[in-house]
Amino acid sequence: MKFSAFNFDSRLSEGIEASGYEDATPVQELVIPLVLEGKDVIASAQTGTGKTAAFLLPLINNILSTPFDEHSITALIIVPTRELAIQIAQHMEGLSYFTSVSSIAVYGGGDGGAFVQEKKALSMGADVVICTPGKMIAHINMGYVKFSGLKYLVLDEADRMLDMGFYDDIMRIINALPAKRQNLLFSATMPSRIREMAKKILHNPAEINIAISKPNEKITQLAYVVYEAQKIPLVKFILHQKEFSSVLVFCSSKQAVKQLTRELKRTKLAVDEIHSDLEQDKREEVLMYFKSGRLKVLIATDILSRGIDIDNIGLVINYDVPHDGEDYVHRIGRTARAAAEGTAITFISEKEQRKFQSIERLLGKEVPKEKIPEQFGEGPEYRKGHHSHPNNGRGHPNGKRPGNFSRNRPAGR
Ligand code: AMP
Repeated sequence: MKFSAFNFDSRLSEGIEASGYEDATPVQELVIPLVLEGKDVIASAQTGTGKTAAFLLPLINNILSTPFDEHSITALIIVPTRELAIQIAQHMEGLSYFTSVSSIAVYGGGDGGAFVQEKKALSMGADVVICTPGKMIAHINMGYVKFSGLKYLVLDEADRMLDMGFYDDIMRIINALPAKRQNLLFSATMPSRIREMAKKILHNPAEINIAISKPNEKITQLAYVVYEAQKIPLVKFILHQKEFSSVLVFCSSKQAVKQLTRELKRTKLAVDEIHSDLEQDKREEVLMYFKSGRLKVLIATDILSRGIDIDNIGLVINYDVPHDGEDYVHRIGRTARAAAEGTAITFISEKEQRKFQSIERLLGKEVPKEKIPEQFGEGPEYRKGHHSHPNNGRGHPNGKRPGNFSRNRPAGR
C-alpha cells in the first residue's frame, strides 16, 4: 500500500518521501488508519517492522490538522532507554522536517544546558515529547510540566519498560495526564502483565498483532557448550579465525562486558564496549563508530538488544545465554538485517543449559552444537533437563535506570 493512500498533509508527505519510504509496512497499514480515526491501539510489533513511523506519522498528521493548545505538550511518547528515545527523535526529525511540528527528547545523562532546554519545552509547550520514565518524573516533580492540552500518549516497548521496573513511574506519569486522550501501546511480547496494564490505560483498544517471534531464516544459528573459563579464549579464537563485517557480542552483565572488553583489547582487536556505566556522550560516540564500520567489534549489555537499528552486523555472539526466547530472538535479530546473511553463536555454560533448552523449545528446534576446537580441551556434555540457576545471568537489563538525553530541536513552533 502506497503512503499516498493515507492522504497525509502534503508537508508530511514530503518528509516521508525524503525519508525514502514508498510503501507502508504491514504494521503501518494496520495502525495508521486506526490512529487517524482516533482509536486506542494495542499492537504487538517488534523493532524492524516499521512500528515507529506507524505511530509518528498519524500523530504528526493529526497535530497538523486539528487545533491544539500551544502552551502544552500535545503528544507524549514514553520509551525504555535513552538510545531508543534518540532514535525515535531522529525518525521524528526526518518525517516532520517540512512541517511546523516541534519535538524534543527528554532523557537522563544530559548536562545542565539540556535540562534548561527541556524545562523550557516542557513548561512552554512542545508538540511531541519523547521521554524515558525516570527523567520525566524528575521534571514532573518540579511542577512546571504542562500536560493540560495533552491529546496523545504512546508507550513504546512496553514489555521492556516493565522488565526494567518502570511500572510505577509510568503510572505516575499517566496520573498527571488529562483523562481524555488517545492511547497507543506497542510491545514486542504480550504477557499477561502487559494486558493488565493495558486495561488500566487504554479505552476499548483495537488490537494488532505483527509479532515475529521466530528468528529470521537468513541467520545461521549455532552454539558451543563450554565451561565458563573457556568462553574468553573461544571468543578470541572466533574473532581471529574469520573476517566478519561487524560483530556484536552480548553479555548479560556490565561486569562481563568490561572484563571481556579488557581481554580483547589486549589482542589488538578494534573493540569497544557499551553499557549504562558509560557517560551518554561516550555511548553515542561508540555507537556512531560502530554504525560507521570503523569499530569492528562491540561488546554490549542487553541495552542494545532491542530497538537499535544497525545494518551490516555479520556476527552476533551471545557470550552468555539470554534470559528467554524473546531476548534471544531480539539479540540475534541484530544480524542479517537489510537482506544480508548473518551468523549467531551462543555460548552455553553448564549452568545455562536448562535456560537454553527452554529457548530451543520456543524456537521449535534445536540449535546445532559445534564441537569446541581441540586446543581448548573438552567442553561439558549437553544434558537435557540439566539444572540451572533460575535467574542466572539476568540482572537488571542495563544495570541502572536510564534517564534521558539528546534534543531534537528546541520546542516552540
Ligand atoms: P522500526 O521498526 O520503527 O525501528 O523501523 C525499522 C526501520 O525501517 C527503520 O530504519 C525505518 O526507517 C525503516 N522504515 C520504517 N517504515 C518504512 C517504510 N514504510 N519503508 C521503508 N523503510 C521503513
